[in-house]
Amino acid sequence: MLKFEQVSKQYSNGYQAVKNMNFEISAGEILVLIGPSGCGKTTTMKMINRLVPHTSGTIFLKGKDITKENPDLLRRNIGYVIQQIGLFPHYTIEDNVGLIPQLKGWDAARKKERVNEMLRLVGLDPAVFAKRYPKQLSGGQQQRVGVARALAADPEIVLMDEPFGALDPITREQLQDELLRLQQELHKTIVFVTHDMEEALKLGDKIAILKDGELVQLDTPDQILSQP
Ligand code: ADP
Ligand code: ADP
Repeated sequence: MLKFEQVSKQYSNGYQAVKNMNFEISAGEILVLIGPSGCGKTTTMKMINRLVPHTSGTIFLKGKDITKENPDLLRRNIGYVIQQIGLFPHYTIEDNVGLIPQLKGWDAARKKERVNEMLRLVGLDPAVFAKRYPKQLSGGQQQRVGVARALAADPEIVLMDEPFGALDPITREQLQDELLRLQQELHKTIVFVTHDMEEALKLGDKIAILKDGELVQLDTPDQILSQP
């Protein structure tokens, strides 16, 4: 589903943020990228949706080189959830979740049905929340909306960059559990960034450990736990 072949990123100031990265994940897998601040996790993530263009190597999504695709169309097939949520404050919850379906030109009825379905999926009653604005929701509820929005247009892959990092431990655990439940239902391919090993072990099918821009280890949670 997603393959990195010798992928590197050098920023325009000369800094080499990602070095010769190789990995491959199958459809329905969760890959966790973990490592200390500055090791290149966000850069790796943003190269997938081309918010950051890679400098060398090749990134394949479903066998296709992503540089051969229109970036706007590419991004509509890639869900994206970040820590700072990024909901539009002047849009209702309904319009935030319906953003990509809107861009894709879905008709109003299909869009509404989808938005309600997604809100229910993340545990928010549409009758209560659809017409509210983001600031009328708690941090945990907003983050749920972020997840609903990322899934709304049925993307091929979902990128999650420390999505639960700003939440209190209890809400965080709830959302982790919910993500795993969603994953069982929807079988999305997910790339998930965290710097918390406990979270990585809980969520990952595979865990990629990054250090100074290099992928130094790629293993399953079981392999990591059974290391001497
Ligand atoms: P590029 O080098 O890919 O052209 P820019 O230098 O234009 O990227 O920076 C893009 C964004 O990243 C800007 O918002 C900038 O403030 C931020 N940025 C620049 N340098 C750094 C850095 N060393 N660490 C984190 N962010 C940075
Ligand atoms: P992480 O997500 O693991 O914290 P990042 O991918 O954000 O790491 O950053 C990796 C390295 O690249 C850092 O040293 C950061 O300062 C640098 N960096 C990030 N963005 C830019 C940029 N736009 N220009 C130059 N350097 C950057």
